[in-house]
Amino acid sequence: MDHFHLEKGELCCEGVPLRAIAERVGTPCYVYSDATLRRHYEVFEEGLARLPHLICYSVKANTSRAILSTLARLGAGADVVSGGELWRALEAGIPPERIVFSGIGKRGEEIRRALAAGILMLNVESEAELGRIAEEARALKVRAPISLRVNPDVDPETHPYIATGLRDNKFGIAMEKARSVYAAAVALPELEVKGIDCHIGSQLTKVAPFVDSVRRIVHLAQEVRATTGAAIRYIDIGGGLGIRYSEETPPTPEDYGRAVSEVVAQLGTLDMTLVTEPGRVIVGNAGVLLTRVLYLKSNGQKRFVIVDAAMNDLIRPTLYGSFHQIRKVVPGPAGTPRATVDVVGPICESGDFLARDRELEEVAQGDLLAVLSAGAYGYAMSSNYNSRPRAAEVMVRGSELAIVREREAVEDLTRGERLPPWLAASR
Ligand SMILES: *Cc1c(COP(=O)(O)O)cnc(C)c1O
Repeated sequence: MDHFHLEKGELCCEGVPLRAIAERVGTPCYVYSDATLRRHYEVFEEGLARLPHLICYSVKANTSRAILSTLARLGAGADVVSGGELWRALEAGIPPERIVFSGIGKRGEEIRRALAAGILMLNVESEAELGRIAEEARALKVRAPISLRVNPDVDPETHPYIATGLRDNKFGIAMEKARSVYAAAVALPELEVKGIDCHIGSQLTKVAPFVDSVRRIVHLAQEVRATTGAAIRYIDIGGGLGIRYSEETPPTPEDYGRAVSEVVAQLGTLDMTLVTEPGRVIVGNAGVLLTRVLYLKSNGQKRFVIVDAAMNDLIRPTLYGSFHQIRKVVPGPAGTPRATVDVVGPICESGDFLARDRELEEVAQGDLLAVLSAGAYGYAMSSNYNSRPRAAEVMVRGSELAIVREREAVEDLTRGERLPPWLAASR
């Protein structure tokens, strides 16, 4: 459920017409709904209420300060994948004891920052990384809290770029190998073995792969506890719950919570805390990308709607072939004709599209369009390609509107750039 709806014939975010936002802030611009964000977090929380649990919001889905601060106030933890995300999470007021750090390539400096901050645990993805963390902990004279990210070899049935729990993916430690790595970790006095972790992929639309992977890692955790005495108290099952972009029918957070809680309870591990790392399901449908039609044109059979947002603003359609619903902000009267068009941006790449062969109500130059479900992996994956300043971000609460990130100016594009001395001298 979200709070983007038609009111008096135009699309609104909560109590604010998107047209008014475009007039005030310009386009392209991301618009987030505070009520939707909160609701998604709360529903997810309720789904897990039967078990001791910790929700570590996956910061990479949307790193906006306003989003992180909203979630921090609701009591969320964070799953971070870089020193930058760790900094953002702490800055937003997320307590270190609710932060987990994932990722296969943590650098020494990032490990040191995580240890100094006192985070809950580092999710370790290789033996080599385990050694590195032990070294850093020894130098800092602390014990490093760790969990092993295992690769349960479960097919999440999603796009190959976002499947992460298969044997051939770069993530995690193979199940067979995990036992010996746990034994090695337990033997290192610098390490405090706290948990087990997995993350099998993103945009999952079934509960079965989650249940399978939970079963596998819980069995492994029990075995490791029995054989090594490791105090595994956290079972981190990653993120990945899908959302509805078009025709998908993903499990609700309630279905997901019920299925996961049942399998954990059956396995008799109620003394453990369940950790989850949801990203997309919390923010995905809490944001839209607002864009204006610049021109219409046709080449042969094809009709193009050229808009002012592009692949640098929202890369998902071209990167994953993703579908985002597109709606006219002020729809025409019933019976307005429809046409099949490509919605494309101004970037000099044929891959620059937001939708292909899409049936849309006829649009005119100057019309506003809302690209829905753009709250996750939208702004966070944006770039300056073609020297396009990044879009503004707005948050709405009821009838209030706040610009939570200014649109970049052209001057921002060259910030940090220097001329080499031989060019500077001649100026
Ligand atoms: C990306 C990621 C997540 C979040 O995935 P969603 O599909 O957005 O829920 C969670 N954990 C890890 C380790 C990730 O890399």
